[in-house]
Amino acid sequence: MKTIMYSIQDFERSYLLQANREHHELTLLEEALDERTAAYAHKHEAAVIFTGDDASSEVLQKLHNAGVKYLAIRAVGYDNIDLKKATALGISVANVPEYSPYAIAEHSIALMLALNRKLILANSQVHHHNFKVGNLVGFDLNKKTVGIVGTGRIGSIMARILHGFGCRLLGYDTKENKALSKYFDLQYVDLKTLCKESDIISLHTPLNTATKYLINKALIDEMKPAVMLINTARGAVMNTGDVIDALETGKIGYLGTDVYEKEKGIFFYDYSKNRIKDEMLKKLMSFPNVIVTPHQAFATQEALTNIADTTFYNLNCWAKSKQTKNELTSKESADGYVHSPWGKLVVKKIKQDVSE
Ligand code: NAD
Repeated sequence: MKTIMYSIQDFERSYLLQANREHHELTLLEEALDERTAAYAHKHEAAVIFTGDDASSEVLQKLHNAGVKYLAIRAVGYDNIDLKKATALGISVANVPEYSPYAIAEHSIALMLALNRKLILANSQVHHHNFKVGNLVGFDLNKKTVGIVGTGRIGSIMARILHGFGCRLLGYDTKENKALSKYFDLQYVDLKTLCKESDIISLHTPLNTATKYLINKALIDEMKPAVMLINTARGAVMNTGDVIDALETGKIGYLGTDVYEKEKGIFFYDYSKNRIKDEMLKKLMSFPNVIVTPHQAFATQEALTNIADTTFYNLNCWAKSKQTKNELTSKESADGYVHSPWGKLVVKKIKQDVSE
């Protein structure tokens, strides 16, 4: 099947080429999908995109006009795709619903530990031959309360890891996963209680109409002083302006974020020579108690292999006129996000691991 792939980064190219076992005819582009580049899809049956690509209504119309029937995203989140429009145009859309929740959970833990134990500062100090410890004092994670917002695939792995640290776990989700309470003593509470009681809050919901700016001034006001906030979900799950205000007053004591609400066009690109112009991001990066990583939580060898394999599984199904089990357009629900059946599978896996 003639397939165009947008936003291809050097590091993923070899994984994708290796996964193309059925030899689809590929056009690989470094450029992102947008209203202009949609024209490159002319005479391609399938398009493959990533999180920073624009699959809005207008762009989908252009892909449809160009002849695209299938759209695969090499990611879990698909908040950049107008699924209603795709459905109306008859474009089948599929994602990679699970590639390695461990990659994202482990990156969230890395942010937590690096912030708490001031690893970036420590590394910089010792490189300047300063071996003093006075400004590097952190806190034990053991017995601290961690609030996990969104206890799906990634949030479940967070619960498992943090249980190992000896943390008290609170969870907030529209669907409760009883296995997390049974095996890891996670207690489901409402979001306000989670904010009031947590020393660390970690975000793991998709971005949708209900979760946009879920973390805002009103909720931040409920949080403990100097709370640590970790966001590896999507930038707009938190209101960045409100978070910056809270960093300024010290209400938020630490922020570790792998995502930024205006990351499109910035993350995944090298601006080291001409510098970025985004004032809000510059402000965020100016705080010593903030770590920003460039949407890299997914970037492990295992995750990249699984992303490539599942993306080509989706394409292989479509090439044989079959539906893929990752189809989003057929499952689209009224509340704007897909209800994944995966929660049950995570429970099963955790049970197996616990009994091993
Ligand atoms: P998942 O679907 O398994 O879990 C999401 C959970 O959020 C579900 O349990 C769902 O019930 C819950 N949820 C949805 N709406 C909610 C709401 N309004 N309030 C409370 N809970 C709500 O997804 P996942 O695999 O755990 O991934 C979560 C998100 O992480 C993805 O949607 C994506 O945006 C982000 N992600 C980021 C990276 C990265 O590299 N930084 C990589 C993968 C995924």
